[in-house]
Amino acid sequence: MQKSFSNGETITVPNVYPPLRTELMYARIQNELSKRYRCKPADPHFLRDVKIICDSCQKEISVKKQYTYNRDKSQRYGLYVLTHSNEETYRACQVKPTINDKRIKHRITKAVKDILTDTSKIAEYIDSDFDEAELSRLAADVKRLEKMKSDVHSKMDKLLDLYLDDKWSKEKLDERHRLLEKQAHQIQNDLKERKRKRNLIQKDKLNFDTVAEFFGVASRFEELLDPVDQQKLIGSLFPSATLGDDLLILHALLPQEVTVDVKIRIESMEEAKEREILENARERYALAQKTLTQHRGLSLEALSKMIGSQPSTLKLDQERFGSFKHLAPNKQCPDLKKQRVIVLQDELRKNPKLSGRQLEKLTGINRKMIYKIMEEEELKR
Ligand SMILES: [Zn+2]
Repeated sequence: MQKSFSNGETITVPNVYPPLRTELMYARIQNELSKRYRCKPADPHFLRDVKIICDSCQKEISVKKQYTYNRDKSQRYGLYVLTHSNEETYRACQVKPTINDKRIKHRITKAVKDILTDTSKIAEYIDSDFDEAELSRLAADVKRLEKMKSDVHSKMDKLLDLYLDDKWSKEKLDERHRLLEKQAHQIQNDLKERKRKRNLIQKDKLNFDTVAEFFGVASRFEELLDPVDQQKLIGSLFPSATLGDDLLILHALLPQEVTVDVKIRIESMEEAKEREILENARERYALAQKTLTQHRGLSLEALSKMIGSQPSTLKLDQERFGSFKHLAPNKQCPDLKKQRVIVLQDELRKNPKLSGRQLEKLTGINRKMIYKIMEEEELKR
């Protein structure tokens, strides 16, 4: 019991209350708390709450932040990769997967979109047809698990004999017992899950429609901009996954408490880069068009200065996505003069009192050129 008085004195009387924990335990807790306090929490990442297992070595894969530098090493970029973050595991693994997360994120979004917009596409992502074939697969699975269950139990029985034997240390045997118990528990859970699934399929309560419904929730993923929210959503929908060769199998946990495997093909680095270039081009194109709508009649050069992209790049973008609207006619165009006349006529029809300076601003055509055209074509204000 401890009391502080107004004169600043504090009186402590020990052993008034029964201790909640031993001093040793107290010290341990303090130690653990201070360790955790110092450790900076990992950056949120959409796959961080998914327990990913390597298909090759069956050990855990985690999201790891890495850094790369640009060519002259003046700038550092952070990126995320899926890999064995445990060095020993990494060394022991035959495949040593290192997958940039860019190669996966877009594919998950695409899978969700595909499944929601076109149910016939579900088959691309899910092996099961929820039919007789799946039922017999499940039956075989149940059989295999039952066998594993009885094996583990007989191992546990044998362990009992070893306890009596006195040859082995109790710690070693305890450890072995805990491991077997864990296995038995996992097998039991798997068995229950397979039986539940079989039951649901038989009653037609698990089919493509249920899966599509499940993906309706996942469709929020694209709207979520905060990585913390992305992490929570993906983690709750897909608590576990298996990373194989160019394939991430997400084990979707449906509200019916059964899992359905969703195959996500991992992009090659080239595909990811190509997609990124196209995405950037699309963004640049949209920005250019928006700028042109706000400042009609800009020349390609003026536009390129305004948005900070090369004119040649903008030309390529137009070849990809179509010509910009409201761009001033440019020199390479054969019908340049005709186009300029149309543009000028258009502006003058709207407002005949426009001055040369105003016309220049609106159309992006040089003022001298405007006067020349107006004289040649006898355009009237
Ligand atoms: Zn591995």
